[in-house]
Amino acid sequence: TPAAPMYPRVLLKISGEALMGDQGFGLHPPTVRRIAEEVKQVHDLGVQICLVIGGGNIFRGLSGAAHGMERATADYMGMLATVMNALGMQGALEGLGIFTRVISAIPMDQVCEPYIRRRAIRHLEKGRVCVFAAGTGNPYFTTDTAATLRAMEMGCGAIFKGTQVDGIYDSDPKTNPDATRYASVSYDEVLQRNLRVMDASAIALARDNKLPIIVYSLRESGAFAKVLRGEGKFTIVH
Ligand code: UDP
Repeated sequence: TPAAPMYPRVLLKISGEALMGDQGFGLHPPTVRRIAEEVKQVHDLGVQICLVIGGGNIFRGLSGAAHGMERATADYMGMLATVMNALGMQGALEGLGIFTRVISAIPMDQVCEPYIRRRAIRHLEKGRVCVFAAGTGNPYFTTDTAATLRAMEMGCGAIFKGTQVDGIYDSDPKTNPDATRYASVSYDEVLQRNLRVMDASAIALARDNKLPIIVYSLRESGAFAKVLRGEGKFTIVH
């Protein structure tokens, strides 16, 4: 029999770019559906799931600022982009028969729920997937930090960071054939060696609250469920 899930409640963080497929921009519906299926596999194990999706496939505050926009305004545009991604993912999940709530840090009552911590926890207890949108609601932050914050508020056992590679390597596996993947690595080593997993404020927040970060590959189908059972390839930051 397969091993039991390591955590009863987790948060999955993916970047907006994970939804764009090969398009280079926006949402690619088959890719969104494929990730929704990964979430469904974990939901079927009885695990309670929080989701945070970035907005980089649509808009990033920093690139807006680089083109002369005011940073805070550009960041609000980035946060709105994450709401679009969250709605796209909600549609895909509900198409698979999973009840979901999109919960925004910036109230948008006609579109989704406002963030109320205890209400979100209740949704999780009822088996609904909570998709947290609009980041932290504040400019100058990222969705990695939002994911860390929500994971702690929701009492998640870990953050799962689905990326394009199957973990954290000691050097870039794309350029160095001898690069080796860490099975586990400390928060401080990630910060000191500038191993790009999540931004530094997110890592520091996770460290200060002892929230494990599990990095695995979104490319491999079935990996979310597998890694949650402690199998397959991943790196744990703890
Ligand atoms: N953002 C923000 N505050 C937050 C979260 C996000 O201002 O708490 C903005 C920021 O401009 C960011 C954009 O939303 O560039 C999209 O989020 P992010 O870059 O984290 O997306 P990802 O790289 O994960 O796709």
